[in-house]
Amino acid sequence: MRFNKNKGKNVMKKYMGIFGLFFMICCGCTSTHAADDAAQKYQDKALEMIRVSVSMRTAKGFGNVPELATYIADEFKSAGFDQKDIHLLPMGDTAALVIRYRGDGSSGKKPILLSAHMDVVDALPKDWERDPFTLIEENGYYYGRGVNDNKFGIAVLAATMMRLKSEGFVPNRDIILALTGDEETRMITTRSLVTEYRHLIDAEFALIPDGGGGHLDENGKAVSFSVDSAEKTYATFEMTARNSGGHSSRPKRDNAIADLSAALNKVFRYEFPVRTNELTLSYFEQTAPLVGGTVGDAMKRFAENPQDKDAVSILRSIPVYVGSLGTTCVPTMLRAGHAENALPQSATATINCRVFPGLGVDETLARLKKIVANDAIEWKGLGSPLESDASPVRKDVFEAISRGVHASYPDLPIIPHMASGASDALHFRAVGIPSYTFSGIFIKDSDKFSHGLNERIPTDTLPVAMKMWRSILMELAS
Ligand SMILES: [Zn+2]
Repeated sequence: MRFNKNKGKNVMKKYMGIFGLFFMICCGCTSTHAADDAAQKYQDKALEMIRVSVSMRTAKGFGNVPELATYIADEFKSAGFDQKDIHLLPMGDTAALVIRYRGDGSSGKKPILLSAHMDVVDALPKDWERDPFTLIEENGYYYGRGVNDNKFGIAVLAATMMRLKSEGFVPNRDIILALTGDEETRMITTRSLVTEYRHLIDAEFALIPDGGGGHLDENGKAVSFSVDSAEKTYATFEMTARNSGGHSSRPKRDNAIADLSAALNKVFRYEFPVRTNELTLSYFEQTAPLVGGTVGDAMKRFAENPQDKDAVSILRSIPVYVGSLGTTCVPTMLRAGHAENALPQSATATINCRVFPGLGVDETLARLKKIVANDAIEWKGLGSPLESDASPVRKDVFEAISRGVHASYPDLPIIPHMASGASDALHFRAVGIPSYTFSGIFIKDSDKFSHGLNERIPTDTLPVAMKMWRSILMELAS
């Protein structure tokens, strides 16, 4: 498709050579032509940035994030951004990068913050069908670790800012791009951006291309566009069963692995009470007619009556919706025993929870302890979970997003949503910067392989995303 388009363009160029003057005078199409050229040029730039960034294995432990940050900083320098507006902030083996696109301040408004993350979840080349660290274009898809999460987002934002700069666009407020370096793991870079470097990133609101976005049905038709305006709290607990152990030839009635298994089973079977908020109810109400069938009907009934047991059970059986119905906790890791021929002295399971806003992390732990009902099990919370409120559905932001999306997909429903995953947005929200997460990627659910094998995105989503972000930034900053 791209080939044909370019071929068409070459023919057009030849034609323009012969009849250029005629076109300039009579058709006024030179400006459209120049705009097409600019669109193609910066789309190519975005693709080049995706290619280079995918080639850098920015997973935890490889120490490659600073190299990627340096590359992006250099690209901005080459695009004419002032050195004093480019802040590369090394933090341990990773880094953050903040770039300020200076406006004239005429709106009197605080800046717009754009944020994405440079790190990726690691990918093991031997498990992939293609090299995860080489961008490969095949059958209408780009393959590579990070193409979806989140290097596409970085490249599209960067190329869009470069294009606006090249066109002489002066925003009426500053636009800040803040790239973090450990979103997938510790989020230390994000934490220090909102504390130590708050002056560099302070903004009225944040737009984050790391979630949400366009949904295609299995026939490739766009059905909706979601904007994550809240997220659940990420909280991890460890539960441990201990035992005095002994020789495996002399088993006892009690056993650390068996005790832990019994506790795990209870946790796994437990369903937290159904919870709702304005965002989840409106999400199900708006999504119901788009989904249709039994599931759409369940959504409609749930939105009308969250106590509808049948609707709850249908929605809870679908992994993509279960998180919108309440808190979820699931066992994710296990370690136990120390020798093949010894009774285990300890057995530990990791339980990862996504806590519904308002329930509280402490209350969740108390609930788990109650369910397990075994005082001999030890509990420990990992990390420091951060809770955040939902961001308001801002009219200016949602109107700009609508127009940006509708430029490619007229009338597509724009749906505010609560994310079940955790992202950098959490930290921005927690310090009072309302945050909206939506990617310019239009993709089928069945094509989503973020964090997994063979991560890919459709190639034709790139021009759509470029057009969308340009429109959104121009509307919100002029
Ligand atoms: Zn991500």
